[in-house]
Amino acid sequence: MNVLLTGGAGYIGSHTAVTLINAGINIVIADNFSNSSPKVLDRIAEITGKRPEFVEVDFCDKAATDALFESHSFDGVIHFAGLKAVGESCRQPIRYYRNNLDSTLTLLEAMAKYNVKRLVFSSSATVYGDQPAPLTESTPTGNCSNPYGWTKYMIEQILKGACDADPELSVVLLRYFNPLGAHESGKIGENPNGIPNNLMPYISQVAVGKLEKLHIFGNDYDTPDGTGVRDYIHVVDLAQGHLDALHYAEKRTGCDVFNLGTGKGYSVLDMVKTFSRVNGVEVPYVIDPRRPGDLATVYADPKKAETVLGWTAKRNLEDMCRDSWNWQSHNPQGY
Ligand code: NAD
Ligand code: UDP
Repeated sequence: MNVLLTGGAGYIGSHTAVTLINAGINIVIADNFSNSSPKVLDRIAEITGKRPEFVEVDFCDKAATDALFESHSFDGVIHFAGLKAVGESCRQPIRYYRNNLDSTLTLLEAMAKYNVKRLVFSSSATVYGDQPAPLTESTPTGNCSNPYGWTKYMIEQILKGACDADPELSVVLLRYFNPLGAHESGKIGENPNGIPNNLMPYISQVAVGKLEKLHIFGNDYDTPDGTGVRDYIHVVDLAQGHLDALHYAEKRTGCDVFNLGTGKGYSVLDMVKTFSRVNGVEVPYVIDPRRPGDLATVYADPKKAETVLGWTAKRNLEDMCRDSWNWQSHNPQGY
């Protein structure tokens, strides 16, 4: 099977690349490196013994996207490419709508032109907006609190419409909860630009001494210890979910959707304490006011993925904290 990974040089794409290569799937990574490094390709080769084919493409560029499809024969596409920083999307909404929607529409046109009928899409739990946990796939979506979330919501609608119109198309929407951790080799991991927005890269950068202390955004939520609760999922488990989704997309047509989470919620303080205990490092923190737009509690009901895809998360919070630190401590400046 020949599979295109758009945005495959990024955090989740690179881990999925490793999982697919190890499963014997032939992959092509296409990325514009707007949020990733060419060094990822060397690291994937070090881990798997196989260097994936790479093509530099901006998926908003129709001619470049068509040229990619013209020169390759793909059986399926996993579409990771997109901008993902929530705060940045509030400051630069047009850039986010343009990049995320345009790249998806351009990709879909090329898939239609070159008769590629299978797509797995990186959606997000953020499409649920402010709904009570546990979130199931039939929990209503919408009411997103930022432009990034709306791009995911809109792309889901576009993909549903595309499936309604083309009975041969097979699309799997994967709604990720909070991915973290890294490949156990410590050779690939999350490499945020500038000061991280997300909790785990922030904790890791405090632990490694790049940042002074963690700012915990609020301890007055209606949660067991007052800090926000999320469903953290190891990126290698998430990668396996893409392989399972790809196989599922081969067997059927239409648009289906799956939560990829563990079903367990952990608080910010749980994360800090577990990270410190597992890795034997201090994570100094202060309590700050709540971050606008944050919800108290978000976690998945992951039963559908288990029943239909045969997928469950295998790695626990200790594994996530250990692997995040292994990556960060071996690559203090990233790639
Ligand atoms: P990432 O930024 O590490 O990877 C995305 C990749 O897409 C990057 O390598 C970037 O260079 C590339 N890219 C962006 N726009 C492009 C374009 N127009 N053409 C070609 N390449 C382009 O992010 P990630 O964490 O690996 O996320 C992958 C996908 O999963 C994204 O769509 C993201 O929105 C989604 N997602 C991520 C999370 C998370 O917390 N990491 C949660 C839910 C959903
Ligand atoms: N958080 C925090 N300090 C930080 C980053 C995040 O206290 O520097 C909290 C945030 O308020 C939320 C949780 O950690 O309760 C997860 O936030 P993250 O940005 O990683 O993911 P989100 O669920 O918001 O997408």
